[in-house]
Amino acid sequence: MVIIMNDTIAAISTSNITAGAISIVRMSGSESFDVLNKIFKTKDRNYQGYHIYYGFIIDPEDGKNVDEVLVNVFRAPNSFTGEDMVEINCHGGLYITRKILTLCLSYGARQAINGEFTKRAFLNGKIDLTQAEAVNDIIMADNRDNARLAVNSLSGSISHLLKPLINDLEQCIAHIEVNIDYPEYDDNGVITSGEVKQLVEDWINRSEDILNKAESSLIIKEGIKTVIVGKPNVGKSSLLNALLQQDKAIVSDIAGTTRDLVEGDIHLKNVTIHLIDTAGIHQTDNSIEQIGIQKSRQALNEAQLVIVVIDGSDFDEEDQRLLDETEGTNRIVVYNKSDLHYVEGQLSISAVNNDISQLVDKINEMFENHRVVLTQPALTNERQISLMRQAKDSIISAKQQLADDVPLDLVNEDIENAYRCMKEILGEYSREDLLDGIFSRFCVGK
Ligand code: GDP
Repeated sequence: MVIIMNDTIAAISTSNITAGAISIVRMSGSESFDVLNKIFKTKDRNYQGYHIYYGFIIDPEDGKNVDEVLVNVFRAPNSFTGEDMVEINCHGGLYITRKILTLCLSYGARQAINGEFTKRAFLNGKIDLTQAEAVNDIIMADNRDNARLAVNSLSGSISHLLKPLINDLEQCIAHIEVNIDYPEYDDNGVITSGEVKQLVEDWINRSEDILNKAESSLIIKEGIKTVIVGKPNVGKSSLLNALLQQDKAIVSDIAGTTRDLVEGDIHLKNVTIHLIDTAGIHQTDNSIEQIGIQKSRQALNEAQLVIVVIDGSDFDEEDQRLLDETEGTNRIVVYNKSDLHYVEGQLSISAVNNDISQLVDKINEMFENHRVVLTQPALTNERQISLMRQAKDSIISAKQQLADDVPLDLVNEDIENAYRCMKEILGEYSREDLLDGIFSRFCVGK
């Protein structure tokens, strides 16, 4: 979608669904004050930035008062969007709020589309793309940790995280290009493949570090992808119920039987587990069960945590097979039915008695370290992370090329690609359709 950038836009920035004490109708663009003047009666029209003006919104058609309001004034470039902006604080009735928006639209403003205020802030250089995404994340955050992650990103911390590596890549690219374009000037010195090899090694470590932190932030944001596996009747459903009872806060979308894929979030102390499956993995001739088992195997591969449930009073070769199969995964093996049979030296629970504190403590202990991203900058969504992965892959490819003695001007293409991907995370290389994709998820008035 093509958006005309210099027209004046208006929208209701507060909830447009329910009435509240106060609503805000926002305008941004060079004609904001002209539009305001046509519908606002106030003593002083000499609008100064960062000032609040008291008066009445009037309907110019009959000259009657519509509402008593306060108007916040921001002057370009010192506003959220970087343009002249006004925020009309009116009473929060739906009729009044919509009437004031209609007046703005009738007297020169255009209805803003989703995310258009934030998009203007980005295009006018007030914020980078990760900060724009954070605006939405803050509004969507439904718990303290997600809000903290988003607030971190809003303050521009992702830019601080990436800029040192971006700058180093840029410097290396410039150096290689100068060597290629001006071989006769050796004032800059000639950068050698050996030197680039060392740099590349360091870049790989740094990009890995960035990706590890990103994984932590996804774990905080989306929960630990968890599967519960075990042969039939070991107590998986009972464990699920016991876990749900631990979650006094929010339970979402837990549905299905043990044969289906069961999905849902359960909050346990400081971590959230995102259950992706509880269907059993075991040998069977039943074709429907086999589909469930196949799904379980797939879930197992994607899981960040595997909880293997064993009936402590009934350990057999099928349990052993499951233990072998989950060997390399990030797993916790629990021996259930400890009330019937306590297995010495193992993590024991009794799901039917809700006695699962050992398991909950263990999960918290395993994932507690991911909380470090609440105080450190980290990439926070799939768009950012997949670009960072591409950047890292390009750097690894550069390393391979250097090992194969490929000339530096060709290796440079990989380095440039890594650089472009990282710049794109901040929106400094982005295309129009990419931007539309991101901003269309916003609501109007943001
Ligand atoms: P699933 O097939 O693995 O989901 O197993 P269920 O949760 O349906 O449990 C199978 C049977 O074991 C049920 O009769 C449960 O009541 C029982 N059970 C589950 N957990 C325990 C436990 O901790 N102690 C005892 N005594 N029985 C349990």
